[in-house]
Amino acid sequence: MAHSLPDLPYASDALEPHISAQTLGFHHGKHHAAYVSKMNSAIDGSDDEKLSLEDLIRKAAKSGDQGLFNNAAQTWNHTFYWNSMSPEGGGEPMGDLATRIDRDFGSFDGFRKAFSDAGATQFGSGWAWLVVKNGKLEVRKTLNAETPLTEDGVVPLLTMDVWEHAYYLDFQNRRPDYIETFLGKLANWSFAADNLAASGQ
Ligand code: MN
Repeated sequence: MAHSLPDLPYASDALEPHISAQTLGFHHGKHHAAYVSKMNSAIDGSDDEKLSLEDLIRKAAKSGDQGLFNNAAQTWNHTFYWNSMSPEGGGEPMGDLATRIDRDFGSFDGFRKAFSDAGATQFGSGWAWLVVKNGKLEVRKTLNAETPLTEDGVVPLLTMDVWEHAYYLDFQNRRPDYIETFLGKLANWSFAADNLAASGQ
């Protein structure tokens, strides 16, 4: 197998009571696992097996191979999402990231509003993102499997899954409550800060 399903970076009950072990069990063990498995089947025996996951996503996006793109991008997006949360998450970032959020969004509240709006207004399935583009922090929303990884000059820093499977067992249809919980209790700011530092932007 070219790619394997990464373990969660914490125990499956570590995000309780905010996100249940049942949600993570299905989301990681079924949804994420299925994306990895379908991606591997699609590239089995081809030269694409040798590509990094990031290069495979970019190649599939360029060539318009929608099926492969969906499964490869969802593989990457979910691993990034697990790391975007932490049992010790929430609150506000510190250091350079905090300074730049204040500069680019006016305040942490300005960021929180932009990110919450992106998640709440993504119609149907998708993702909300904090990214850095050409040195400036921006909020994005993407549809279905789409990922800012395919955009030139953009480095993702943090993401939130707003597909219903991410929150329905715990929040039913209350996506805004899930978003508030993500920001208040789960957002992994040290992961975002590490990504910003590594971006060189
Ligand atoms: Mn998902």
